Amino acid sequence: MNGHLRSSPESPRTDLLSPAPTDRVEAAPIYEGEVEIDKTVVVCGAGGFIGGHLVADLLRQGYDQVRAVDIKPPNQWFQKFPQADNRSLDLREKENCYAALEGADQVYNLAADMGGMGFIENNKALCMLSVRINTHLLMAARDMDIGRYFYSSSACVYNQELQSTADVEPLSEEDAYPALAEDGYGWEKLFSERMCRHFREDFGLTTRVARYHNVYGPFGTYDGGREKAPAALTRKAIEAKLSGDEEIVIWGDGTQTRSFMYADDCVKGTQKIMHSDITEPINLGSDELVTINGLVDVIEKAVEVDLDREYDLTKPQGVDGRNSDNTKILQELGWEPPTALRDGMEVTAEWIEEQIRRHAEEETTSRFAVAY
Ligand code: NAD
Repeated sequence: MNGHLRSSPESPRTDLLSPAPTDRVEAAPIYEGEVEIDKTVVVCGAGGFIGGHLVADLLRQGYDQVRAVDIKPPNQWFQKFPQADNRSLDLREKENCYAALEGADQVYNLAADMGGMGFIENNKALCMLSVRINTHLLMAARDMDIGRYFYSSSACVYNQELQSTADVEPLSEEDAYPALAEDGYGWEKLFSERMCRHFREDFGLTTRVARYHNVYGPFGTYDGGREKAPAALTRKAIEAKLSGDEEIVIWGDGTQTRSFMYADDCVKGTQKIMHSDITEPINLGSDELVTINGLVDVIEKAVEVDLDREYDLTKPQGVDGRNSDNTKILQELGWEPPTALRDGMEVTAEWIEEQIRRHAEEETTSRFAVAY
């Protein structure tokens, strides 16, 4: 695939439809590599969006010792599987990291205090404090001889000066230096990537690092302030449809460009990178570049609505353009995230609409119960 604007194929794929959370472990695994099912695998940040998808896939592959760890109480996790060893621990604290990793063979660190542009622009210190999570997990991994350690970095590590036009050149791995990362969140990611490198070089810990580019899909945040553009715009489109208002407010002027990776591709790529020999940080993202207006076109089709667009230039909008250069991942793995935006958004929109309708019904029922 190249890095230029292109549209998704015409016919939506129906095989991406996610079954209900309880049935998800019965589905075919997304990752089809060699598995070592006797190993204990720890997923940090398992109550979050990508972590939940990863736990589901490890269980599907037959791992019987999956430890799922998150700071949130389990009843707030996006997905929770009784087959996993679910633990609620604050991984900023060193002793909790040692407890979380005890007896583990492989560790995926996806835990971070993060969200979309609205969150990371207004919470830079909180984002940087996630450095404690990766630091203490690395120390525990070193001291406990963990076999493999994966760290989820971000495209926000890239030099911002290379992202100042919408017609952006796709970002390749060396574009992180000289460094001018996204303030707060991006600097923490860049620092933590380097910690992984130095723990590998100095202490012999096998570390792997992927730079995720915007991930979307079902079972993620779609409201409350931490949601990212695809989920936020989908929620607004559905609310507009259900209320009959038919108006959508877009942050920025709609011309900014981005690429978006479907969650299943992220889960597959994460495991491919974890089990590879790739020692340096590598892009994991789609290179299907769209404008935010183009994303809204896709969402309108998925939600079956035609909206009047209003642009709010006072809201955080991030860089003008960002895309993933997939040359290196294609060279190393002969693979790149394949899901077209249109296909992934069909599934995502269906899931978000189900949640919004269900919450509305629950609210009506509880109001009715109070009144009578
Ligand atoms: P998420 O917010 O849904 O999941 C992160 C999880 O980490 C949350 O459930 C949170 O409760 C948990 N967490 C936060 N602080 C913790 C602590 N002190 N101890 C234990 N758990 C803690 O985010 P996500 O979208 O699933 O992202 C996963 C990882 O991928 C993050 O590191 C994120 O920075 C990175 N990433 C995500 C994207 C994306 O588009 N979603 C893009 C680039 C990088």
